[in-house]
Amino acid sequence: MRDLTTLPKAHLHLHFTGSMRAGTLRELAARYGTRLPGALLDGDPLRLPPTERGWFRFQRLYDAARACVRSEADMRRIVDEAAADDAAEGSGRLEIQVDPTSYAPFVGGITPAVEIVLDAARKASATHGTEVAVVVAASRMRHPLDARVLARLAAQYAGDGPGEVVGFGLSNDERRGDTAEFARAFAIARDAGLASVPHGGELLGSVHVRQVLTTLAPDRLGHGVRSAEDPDLLDELVGRGVALEVCPASNVSLGVYDDAARVPLPQLVAAGATVALGADDPLLFGSRLVAQYETARHVHGFSDDGLADLARASIRASRAGEPTRRRLLDRVDDWLAAPATTPAPSDPAAARRPEPVPRRFP
Ligand SMILES: [Zn+2]
Repeated sequence: MRDLTTLPKAHLHLHFTGSMRAGTLRELAARYGTRLPGALLDGDPLRLPPTERGWFRFQRLYDAARACVRSEADMRRIVDEAAADDAAEGSGRLEIQVDPTSYAPFVGGITPAVEIVLDAARKASATHGTEVAVVVAASRMRHPLDARVLARLAAQYAGDGPGEVVGFGLSNDERRGDTAEFARAFAIARDAGLASVPHGGELLGSVHVRQVLTTLAPDRLGHGVRSAEDPDLLDELVGRGVALEVCPASNVSLGVYDDAARVPLPQLVAAGATVALGADDPLLFGSRLVAQYETARHVHGFSDDGLADLARASIRASRAGEPTRRRLLDRVDDWLAAPATTPAPSDPAAARRPEPVPRRFP
């Protein structure tokens, strides 16, 4: 078996606050005198029996973490550390998702909030060697008109390179809000050339995925795993070329599946779906990007060939420019051509174990 940290890949599903290192969160909380929920300090906040998992606990912890991000410096640090951690895990392309609304009050509005993230992404790309592009995401919890404002703002920074906006997302509790009401915002984003990358098919099943498909015309679906429950729908997603950003640790932590073995990754791949593995919110789910590939290897039995195909799919589903895609795909071939020298951990539970806090980058 080959070392998965050196497998070149793209990371397409990572949220800004949720990417934060636990140590960084502790530092910010101490600086602002914020008392964090105990669960956020224990390194794996959502490791609970299946019956106790769920969205609301997650949301409460996420909100507590977000409340500790209060300055331009905090925002820049999060982007820089996300890029550093992705670089250490073989990710050559990160498309980080941010809803600037929460941070706007601390930096003078949503426009400066977006510009800070984009500038930090540009700098982090140069520093760490992982291209960092941005997905601007609206929240289902807010008014659809707010989503249109965000889409128009995102459109101004459209591009495919580091520090540019590549896509428009829709996040938060999938069961809230009326998906169809966000159609206009997504049309604005698509007209500007942005990828449509809403969440769908995690907390709700195939009926909602169909609605997302017809109203938001996704290029990629955040999660989409529940599409496996409806073979016709899955065929349609495959036929339309809609990629699925599958995040096994997230699914298990939120109680969508009792354990990683039930995440239908093999079924999705067997049906021909383009799957890009993602970590979603490592701060809360206790595992980063490589851990998702470890799960595919140890829990779902993917061979190195299969894992290389997953990495290729993530690169192809990214919005990276052709030179970057070519370079990363060539490096996947190199990874597979090299002899397997590094034994992988034999303990599948390693995929769920919190990792040591990585070293700080300046
Ligand atoms: Zn997500």
